[in-house]
Amino acid sequence: MRYISTRGEAPALGFEDVLLTGLAPDGGLYVPESLPHFSLEEIRSWRGLPYTQLAFNIMYPFVEEAIPEADFRHMLDETYAAFAHKAVAPLVQLDTNEWVMELFRGPTLAFKDFALQLLGRLLDYVLEKRQEHAVIMGATSGDTGSAAIEGCRHCEHVDIFILHPYQRVSEVQRRQMTTVLGDNVHNIAIKGNFDDCQRMVKESFGDQSFLGGKARLAAVNSINWARIMAQIVYYFHASLALGGPDRSMAFSVPTGNFGDIFAGYLAKKMGLPISQLVIATNRNDILHRFMSGNKYEQHQLEHTLSPSMDIMVSSNFERLLFDLHGRDGLAVKELLENASKGPVSIEDYRWKQARKLFDSAAVDDKATCATIREVYEQNEYLLDPHTAIGVRAARTCRRDVEIPMITLGTAHPAKFPDAITESGLTVKPELPAHMADLFEREERYTVLDNDRAGVQDFIAKHWKNA
Ligand SMILES: *Cc1c(COP(=O)(O)O)cnc(C)c1O
Repeated sequence: MRYISTRGEAPALGFEDVLLTGLAPDGGLYVPESLPHFSLEEIRSWRGLPYTQLAFNIMYPFVEEAIPEADFRHMLDETYAAFAHKAVAPLVQLDTNEWVMELFRGPTLAFKDFALQLLGRLLDYVLEKRQEHAVIMGATSGDTGSAAIEGCRHCEHVDIFILHPYQRVSEVQRRQMTTVLGDNVHNIAIKGNFDDCQRMVKESFGDQSFLGGKARLAAVNSINWARIMAQIVYYFHASLALGGPDRSMAFSVPTGNFGDIFAGYLAKKMGLPISQLVIATNRNDILHRFMSGNKYEQHQLEHTLSPSMDIMVSSNFERLLFDLHGRDGLAVKELLENASKGPVSIEDYRWKQARKLFDSAAVDDKATCATIREVYEQNEYLLDPHTAIGVRAARTCRRDVEIPMITLGTAHPAKFPDAITESGLTVKPELPAHMADLFEREERYTVLDNDRAGVQDFIAKHWKNA
């Protein structure tokens, strides 16, 4: 499998290089040159398979030149054995034909574990083979940081530095990162905001000379193709559990960077019957505004009760734009260069094509809380605020009640207790058993000024072979 850039000017790469590279040198994102396609008969034959076996069938075509079959199976077994539910991605029923797929049974209680626990293993495998060392530098406003740290804590060939804004992440989120005490784990609290952290990471990727050429910088955000790949699997898993592929399914996906829902779009292209994909956003609704009116325009960032979806632009949307433009990288490049200067639109027939693929809804904090309350009253089931946005959007956009509607449950409610309180409920979401002592564990992190040179100096001095 070869991977090409969405901006058409970078050389095609194999899986190993795509894994280690992150952003393409022309500023684009990597996508597979072509997708595997599975027949209904083949998909049907996967009914009843354990999660890891299904994951192997779906993902192996993407990695086969880089990783022998037995090694990849072993990696998948280890990754998903660390989840706290035997079904890995269990379904919970809310109503007739209405479901939540719980993607928060992994070690850090958010769906990002599905990809990041695997990514750590993939990185270590490839780096071992090449006898190289990587330094991961990432910025987080919460979930990505903890999942990436958990995914890399046992890596021999990786040091991970995660920047979070000092005193601006929730206590649960901070402790999930800072209580991981591995020698290769480095938490940095920056005296600034999330954008300051992100800017520092971006600039460091642009000029890696502070590492003295002894290690390469690797990315763990969802521009990394391996993350998207791992998220395709659970769409198949849910469908097969509910009568697919002989019935079509609808999915509602709480969306920030468009990574998770893009994986659903790929599942459909790979042969899974999906009749509806709902983009669910919070007040940061650039995607919903684009889907409603063909205008792609950045607004000011709003802080909401669903912080993991607080974004101004959706980086993975570029991957969809590439397909909508007939995979013409130069057209995408021009469009996105214009988009960084002001609002843009795409040709009407392309936009109509996007509208055929996706429905969308934006859900504000008030409606998020109302949904948390409503579902608790109807089902005694607690939703986290991100999942609540998905459920609300599913109920708003649903087209056919005979088709199962599955909302992706992206986080455990105990990660976001403030939203539950805000909803007027008096129940307290409990942390699962494996995390019950989170508030007693020792924390370790370094507070640094909002100064790039100082942070780079810290990294240069603290990675393993420094
Ligand atoms: C990251 C995240 C999202 C958004 O996912 P994208 O792939 O960025 O669209 C939604 N909910 C939760 C809880 C998350 O952590």
